[in-house]
Amino acid sequence: MKKPITMALAGNPNAGKTTLFNELTGSRQHVGNYPGITVDHKRGHFTYKDQKVTITDLPGTYSLTAYSVEEIVSRDFLTNNRPDVVINIVDASNLERNLYLTTQFLEMGVPLIIALNMIDVAKDRGITVRCEKLAELLGVQVVPIIARSGQGTEELIKQAIEVAQSEKIWNPKDISYGDDLDEVLMKIVSIISDSSFLSSTYPPHYTGIKYLEHDDQILTLGQKADPVIAQKLEQMVGAISDHLLKTMEVYPESMIADHRYGFIKSIIRQGVLTHKFDIDRLYTSDKIDKVLTNRLIGPVIMLLILFGLYQFTFSWSELPVSWMESLFGWMGGIADTTLPDGPLKSMLISGVIDGVGGVLGFVPLIMFMFFGIAILEDSGYLARVAFMMDRIFRIFGLHGSSVMPFIVSGGIAGGCAVPGVMATRTLRSPKERMATLLTVPFMNCGAKVPVLVLLIGAFFTDHQALYMFLFTMLAWFVALVVAKFLRMTVLKGEATPFVMELPPYRFPTLRGLVIHTWERTWQYIKKAGTVILGISIILWALMTYPGLPESQQDNFSAKRTAISQSYPESIRSELLAYNQETGELSKKGKQLKAELTIIDQEESGAGLRYSIAGKIGTFLEPVSSLAGFDWRTNIALLGGFAAKEVIISTLGTAYSMGEVEVDASDSLGERLVRDPHWNSVVAVAVLIFIMFYAPCFVTVVCIAKEAGSWKWAFFSMAFNTVFAFLAAFLVFQIGNLLG
Ligand code: GDP
Ligand code: MG
Repeated sequence: MKKPITMALAGNPNAGKTTLFNELTGSRQHVGNYPGITVDHKRGHFTYKDQKVTITDLPGTYSLTAYSVEEIVSRDFLTNNRPDVVINIVDASNLERNLYLTTQFLEMGVPLIIALNMIDVAKDRGITVRCEKLAELLGVQVVPIIARSGQGTEELIKQAIEVAQSEKIWNPKDISYGDDLDEVLMKIVSIISDSSFLSSTYPPHYTGIKYLEHDDQILTLGQKADPVIAQKLEQMVGAISDHLLKTMEVYPESMIADHRYGFIKSIIRQGVLTHKFDIDRLYTSDKIDKVLTNRLIGPVIMLLILFGLYQFTFSWSELPVSWMESLFGWMGGIADTTLPDGPLKSMLISGVIDGVGGVLGFVPLIMFMFFGIAILEDSGYLARVAFMMDRIFRIFGLHGSSVMPFIVSGGIAGGCAVPGVMATRTLRSPKERMATLLTVPFMNCGAKVPVLVLLIGAFFTDHQALYMFLFTMLAWFVALVVAKFLRMTVLKGEATPFVMELPPYRFPTLRGLVIHTWERTWQYIKKAGTVILGISIILWALMTYPGLPESQQDNFSAKRTAISQSYPESIRSELLAYNQETGELSKKGKQLKAELTIIDQEESGAGLRYSIAGKIGTFLEPVSSLAGFDWRTNIALLGGFAAKEVIISTLGTAYSMGEVEVDASDSLGERLVRDPHWNSVVAVAVLIFIMFYAPCFVTVVCIAKEAGSWKWAFFSMAFNTVFAFLAAFLVFQIGNLLG
């Protein structure tokens, strides 16, 4: 009869130890307690080819520190009882986590064999482990098993017995913990070996690591065994701890843990795992993140990417936007020539085609913007933006998850506050959520962008993209400051901890991008088609009725007649023929047409001033002029509360009047530049006001719904408008002082 062999079964909880133990020992087992504690001590016996084996099922642990009773029991058993072989049962479907314990057995140097369990589960999840490769890299045998069915257990025992019979001395594996620690560990280990410190029980290498890990149990044992050496070791460890804290802000124990994980990662990366779901992508992501979410260069890259998005959107959408403009111009032209003059024609052209066209005209721009955002989102980069922004958001009493609502609302320009307000639902803390939903309307939504583009294009021709970018940054800045203000006043409260999964980067699919782009663009178009249509008709009515009194209309007719009369008969009939599309205009004819158009525009301008909207605008002028807005701008801003898209078309009508010599073919931007009421200071003041005043009424309704009370909706209207007016007032006054 051969000498009996002792085996220990160790592994993570739920790795299948008990299953394997029962499989091996059948009923021949004994359950007792470890002396003095309530952790089960299970021992069993079996015989393999007349080799007697005693096997102990150790408590399941993830590590071998001194933090839990189970961990201490496990490692004490190993060091005190010195089993002939340790069977480390490893869950193949959870390889990376399980190998953490394995590394520590390797550090101890126990005679080890790995039972790679649950290969059936792993297979179901699309994971294959290459055992030979793993064995080669770890330097221990790896036997694949399915403990539940007993598959592979015989081979496991055969090899375990071989290990038990061959290995006599413990042979610790030298894992690197980084230059600093490696150097100290070497010195510590040599001191321990030279003085045989604790070495009747523990291998010197293991003791050294435990000292670096600040292991209470070993430190206490050390003090008892040899206070002088213990003192010396503790001093060395203290010195290196200080050094690490100073240079890297880590403790040795976390440095060691990091390197153990690094060791495992590097093993797995060398082709040990093949994963149906391309596990390499995770590592590639990690690598990319080292750069993209780096504390210093991450934000710089982020700004560059967002700025690039602008360049892309503006330069690529220019052409299609002009196509849309000509399309609606053409439709207006058709309506103009085919319909008889009257309120219906006026409503169709000014209310419907201009109103809806003004919105739809920007669809290409918005599509390009959404396409860009979809690339960022689908590739996984947007999550990194949220992750990086969390640090900043915290300062302002918000949350990393607030980023999405801001971006959806137009944080990169061209969103909509309506879905933005709804997107705040993902925020758990009610106060952070309120602060977010009250500040998202400050973003430059898709309806404000055209206004920004118009004014920037007219007054700051050269660096459009740069100015857009700056105004976007300003929107963020104001939103954050206001959020902070709210969080310090009406919305005081604690911050919630931020947990965010960073999904692995992936190449966006064209299909996904198209779907995402379309969904959002459609949302915008729907709004234009329904809400905006109704509103632009109401606004058209406000700006048309009650209409110029007869006497004034006659006045303009008389002017027209006088002009016509000043031209020879031949020119007049030339214009008539031209209007019926049966003739060409000579130079003189064109001049007559232009002069008549100016009178038409003067008339519609006078009509606007006389309208209900004009009266409101005029009434507000004494106050609004403090910020540089004349009555015509007021009308547009009033219309903007209905929907910001309306601002442009209203400005268009309001400024089609003849206070200056205008050319009928001038664009709105050109007209504004020439108007004496406008200059770059006024433009900035108006821009600022438009960016920050009351959200459009659809958003207000949404705020009321999401916040659960109209109180907040009214708050947002009043607060934003007052704030915006003060800001515009300051810009205008200071701008005038400087200019
Ligand atoms: P212990 O915590 O390490 O003792 O793990 P157990 O032996 O209690 O096993 C945990 C669970 O995994 C049990 O439900 C087992 O039936 C199951 N299990 C163990 N080994 C295997 C295996 O190889 N394949 C499958 N599919 N399940 C297993
Ligand atoms: Mg168990």
